[in-house]
Amino acid sequence: MKDTNPDLSALPSVDLLLRTETAQRIAAAMGSRHTADAARRAVDLLRREAVEGEGGAVLSREELLSAAERSMEAEAKRQIRTGMQRVINAAGVIVHTNLGRAPLSEAAMEAIQKAAGYCNVEYELDTGKRGRRGARAEAMLAELTGAEEALVVNNCAAAAVLVLTSLCEGGEAVISRGELVEIGGDFRVPDVMKRSGAGLVEVGTTNRTKISDYSGAIGEHTRMIVKVHPSNYRIVGFTAVPSVADLAELAHSRGLILFEDAGSGALIDLSRFGLSDEPVISESIASGADVVTFSGDKLLGSAQAGLIVGRSEVLARVRKHPLYRAFRPGKMVYAALEATLEAFLRGTEFEEVPVLKMLSAGRAEIEARTNSVVEELRERLGGFEGVTVETVSSVSVVGGGSAPGTHPDSVAISIRDSGSTPNEIEQRLRNYDPPVVGRIDEDAVLLDLRTVFEHEIETLKNAVCAAFR
Ligand SMILES: *Cc1c(COP(=O)(O)O)cnc(C)c1O
Repeated sequence: MKDTNPDLSALPSVDLLLRTETAQRIAAAMGSRHTADAARRAVDLLRREAVEGEGGAVLSREELLSAAERSMEAEAKRQIRTGMQRVINAAGVIVHTNLGRAPLSEAAMEAIQKAAGYCNVEYELDTGKRGRRGARAEAMLAELTGAEEALVVNNCAAAAVLVLTSLCEGGEAVISRGELVEIGGDFRVPDVMKRSGAGLVEVGTTNRTKISDYSGAIGEHTRMIVKVHPSNYRIVGFTAVPSVADLAELAHSRGLILFEDAGSGALIDLSRFGLSDEPVISESIASGADVVTFSGDKLLGSAQAGLIVGRSEVLARVRKHPLYRAFRPGKMVYAALEATLEAFLRGTEFEEVPVLKMLSAGRAEIEARTNSVVEELRERLGGFEGVTVETVSSVSVVGGGSAPGTHPDSVAISIRDSGSTPNEIEQRLRNYDPPVVGRIDEDAVLLDLRTVFEHEIETLKNAVCAAFR
């Protein structure tokens, strides 16, 4: 250590730093104890840099103090940004798992705000007596899927665990080898079944399973046949799986339950948007599935939830299991779910529910929005030599483990700069407040407006301009 470094004596004291306006502002937001620690860290950092730093430039007392303030400020900002922040999704991934999956409809957001205070979550307004949580959401789910009853839990993984545990613990479930999949990194069908206490009887092969494979595997301990939608995974080519109707007929002729984990859960047929592989819940129910589980925040476009629909006597057993009490969601989830399901009942889901609106947006519509943004950006960035902004052909992504082979035709804003790498541009956009998340394609940053709301367009333009200032 060089004990004669003149910079050290000019270092601000922690006390001096804490008296600055910057520190007081941070203290008002994050508390004084936190700010005192942060000030100590800032001074420590400065001391280390002054001792070890290169260049040899001697900083004045004032310069060192403002350097300490800047470092405190940056650290506070970094910490706040690890908490929940609104972001603009310009990645073109509709159900973006890392960005909160489905963005809610306006009605669902309003419903959450109303439910945030006191609300009648378990209170019957007619009688003044205790009511059943989720009764309205359950009734709407039943109506929309043609099922006798419905039940809501925290997510689809919980729904599968609950169904398997309450209906198959200690017994055996027959499942095709082609459906022993891993979904989203940490949901593995074989592990979930083991955890649920259901014995796993694998039948068929990865690419082909016949109805006779299932019937040959049914024994005295068999309680159910399980069908899992492979979601983020496709087997193509020489493949075969029995239909839900065939499996239901077999299950019922042997006194078994047919359980389908449908994953994304299309409440309506989305095949005209290229999603012909996604099971439509009402079709599964009509084909004889006794219980079907699906996610509330994938293609249904609502809050994170696991939805369970099926026959009354089967759901009664699921509802009675103690795990249901552990897995049921809070009031805000029901609020969002009710408001979203109401749009489906009204038949206005393509206007109201963002996931469906984005999925159904045509290329021409996105191109028109994109061109007008590109035009303005070119004007505003005109003075920056080397910056190129243009409209390019692109594809969006459904995301959320849905429809891996489906890429809605789209266009994107392509941004390049001879003076920066795409990574640098992407990072500057990410550091904007609110952050704008795009994607990198070779030498350009792409912004796909399919997933950007109209009210975010102005902010997005400002973020792009700020990236070159
Ligand atoms: C996504 C998915 C799940 C898990 O759903 P979460 O809501 O994320 O818990 C389970 N099963 C299938 C088939 C899925 O696609």
